[in-house]
Parts: sequence; C-alpha cells; structure tokens
Amino acid sequence: MVLADLGSKLSVALRKMANHTVIDQEVLDAMLADICKALLQADVNVAQVKQLRTNVRTAVNFDNLASGINKRKLIESAIMTELCSMLDPGVKPYEPKKKRPNVIMFVGLQGAGKTTTCTKYAHLYKRKGWKVGLVCADTFRAGAFDQLKQNATKAKIPFYGSYTETDPSVIAGDGVAKFKDEGYEIIIVDTSGRHRQEGALFEEMEQIAAATEPDDVVFVMDSSIGQAAHDQARAFKEKVKVGSCIITKLDGHAKGGGALSAVAATQAPIIHIGTGEHIDDFEDFEVKAFVSRLLGKGNIAGLMERMKEADVDLEGAEMMKRLASGQWTLRDMREQFQAVMKMGPLSNIMNSFPGMQGLDFRESSQRIKRWMTIMDSMTDAELDDPKLMSAERVLRIARGSGYYPSEVIELLEQFKMMQSTMQKTMKKNKKLGKQTDMR
Ligand code: GDP
Repeated sequence: MVLADLGSKLSVALRKMANHTVIDQEVLDAMLADICKALLQADVNVAQVKQLRTNVRTAVNFDNLASGINKRKLIESAIMTELCSMLDPGVKPYEPKKKRPNVIMFVGLQGAGKTTTCTKYAHLYKRKGWKVGLVCADTFRAGAFDQLKQNATKAKIPFYGSYTETDPSVIAGDGVAKFKDEGYEIIIVDTSGRHRQEGALFEEMEQIAAATEPDDVVFVMDSSIGQAAHDQARAFKEKVKVGSCIITKLDGHAKGGGALSAVAATQAPIIHIGTGEHIDDFEDFEVKAFVSRLLGKGNIAGLMERMKEADVDLEGAEMMKRLASGQWTLRDMREQFQAVMKMGPLSNIMNSFPGMQGLDFRESSQRIKRWMTIMDSMTDAELDDPKLMSAERVLRIARGSGYYPSEVIELLEQFKMMQSTMQKTMKKNKKLGKQTDMR
C-alpha cells in the first residue's frame, strides 16, 4: 500500500513520546521534525507541511497548559486534527438522489485510471440497487470505446458510445439524453484525458459539460503523481467545476501523499480511492477513518461495514453484547478472523484491522493463518478468558503451535489493540444512540 511507509513513520514518531517521562517543547519539536520529514518524503505539499507544524505548535502551547492535562493525548489529537484538516476541504461532496437522473462526468489525464474508475463507480451504485448507465465520450484515443464497452459488459452495465460520431460532446449529449429518457438514475460520462494540445482538452471538457449539464464532475488522479499533483488538480479545477475527487492506484508503491493533499487544496473532497485493477478494489474515503488507519489505529467501523455488506455473519447481537459488556474474547477474535478469511481476496478488508496496515492480502492472510494456528493451541478457558494468560501458558502455546513465544505475544498484543479499539467504537456509538450499527 502506497502510504504504508508514511503510516509507519508517523506512528513511530508518535510512539517515541512513550520513551520520555517528561513531555516538553523539545520532545514536541523533535517529534514534529520527524513527522514533517515523513510527510515531505511522501510528497505532501511543502506549504501544507509547514502549516501543520505551526498549527500543532499553537494547539500545544506548553506555557498555557492546565496542570494535569495529558500532554501525549493532546499532542496526538492535535496531529490527528491537522492531518484530517489537510485532507478535508470542509465541503460536502455531491450526493446522488434516488428516482431522478444524476449525471456524473469523469475527468482526468489519460492513464490516471478514469475508465477503470468509471466502471468501479458504476458497479458500486449498481450493487446498491441504482439504475446505472455508462457513456463513452472519448473519441481521441483509439480503442477507448472498446475498453469501456468491455469493462461495462463484464460488469453487466448498459453503455452508450459511437464508432462513427467524432464530436465527443454530441455523443455525450445523446447518451445522457437516451439514459434520461429510459429512467436511469446514475449516468456516468467518461471523457478523454489527452489531446493534441492541453488547451483543446480543456475546451472539449467544457463542451461536454455544456452538453450534459453534469450534477457532479469527478476528477480522477493517479496517486503516483507526487508534488506535481497540486498544479494538475488546480488546472482541472479552474476549467470545470470539479466537485469531488477519486485517487487511484493507492495499492502501488508510489508515495501518494501528493495527490491526497493536493485535492483538499482545490476544495473538492475525495470520495473514493482505487486500490487495485479489479472492479471491487474501490473504497469509500472518509477522512477520519483514513487518518486513523494511517496512524496504525485500524478502521474497525469500516471493517464492520464491509463485513455487513458482504453478508458475513457477525454473530450480530451476541458478539456486540459481549463487546459492550467488555467481554470480547480471543474466541470472538478467532471467529471474526475466520469470517474474514472466508471472504477471500475481496478483503482488502484485512487492512482495516489495527496492526495490519501496509500488508497486502497475501501477507495479512498469512499472518491471520499463523494466529489461527496459535489459537488452536489454546485451551477453551484461555480462549474465553484472556486474563488467564501467563508466561508459562505463552510458552506452552508456543511449543504446541510450533511458533516462537514472541509470535504468541504479538497475537495477544493484536487482541488487546482490537479489544480497546472496538470498545471505544462501541462507547462512542452508544453516546450517539446507535446500537449494533458500528459506523
Ligand atoms: P484512463 O486512461 O484514465 O482511462 O486509464 P485506465 O482506466 O485505462 O487505466 C490505466 C491503467 O491503470 C490500467 O492498466 C488500469 O488497470 C490501471 N488502474 C486503474 N486504477 C487502478 C488502481 O486503483 N490500482 C491499480 N493498480 N491499477 C489501476
């Protein structure tokens, strides 16, 4: 995952605070230096990094801190707030409305992943029960219509395009009109990403926008773009009314920070991220959950949501009840892992577990399999009451499972981390009046 490196550097910087008995300006400055370095290395815009440093310093003013305040927590939360505000332009994205046509135009440079993303977006809404159609308005690139047609056919999504018409705004206008007449709710318009000259590309986008009157314009950007992201995003924003962004290829090895931070600077929120070439490699983007995941805290709420979507039996009420009463056990964790393993590679999901960030499916499933074998060597009493765990028991479990004691301890740490994150989520939801809905 692109940002695994950034994520681990940020969490290491934060964890370093635990080595100091007294947290003072010097400790804060050293940590901020580490954090800024990590952000810059991930290609986050220089001005934004400087701003983050200034804002954290202002938020954590040692001269004015009330006595007894937990400085570590304060610093952690100031950094979390700043990272969130860097990715959040504070604007709500367009929300398609049921039972009426919503025209969504996709723009972005060729190779950004636009056509792939159009199909992913279409598939997502189709799965949710919307009537979805795809229009190919790219007449510049030979084979563009064939690519869209092929993707759409595979995903069983109706499409519109032409081999003979050469004016993209005519195709776009006709396609949108046809789908509107037929009562389609989400009409996606894929546009060209290249032209003989840059000016002509933008002119064509304006013409297509005039012909289709889109409700939202989605800007698709490749995460490997680096520091150039800022200028590119701004150029698109100036020409068409970009309302939302999708960042692609976050599964690759590029640095990613550039694209992520650039879009916020253009006032258009990120709505999804692309995490692979497959149609399901597409995730909702929620700033807070993303930053939590980046800082190694996992995204339990998102995990629950996706498991529910995939119809995984969460043992619903029973497990939730035990969790709420603080009785979530190793046995529960094992059952949850089993459920996720059954879902197969669909589960980019595994990255949502705390401690699993930055691993691909193969790595995380290997880790989970190892933990399952270790848990198989535990007694029923140990599975039901993690407090029983002692050094002797850890050694016995290690011998029985054929793993090192350090690996048994790693599993117990994972359990504690998940238990505390889940309890916090439960508490928060209780406050908000939600019960089993973990969002
Ligand atoms: P377009 O020119 O912008 O329409 O780009 P395409 O949709 O043709 O995508 C260009 C390449 O990027 C194709 O090989 C896609 O499979 C690949 N691609 C698109 N999105 C992703 C993604 O999220 N992850 C990965 N790894 N590849 C992607």
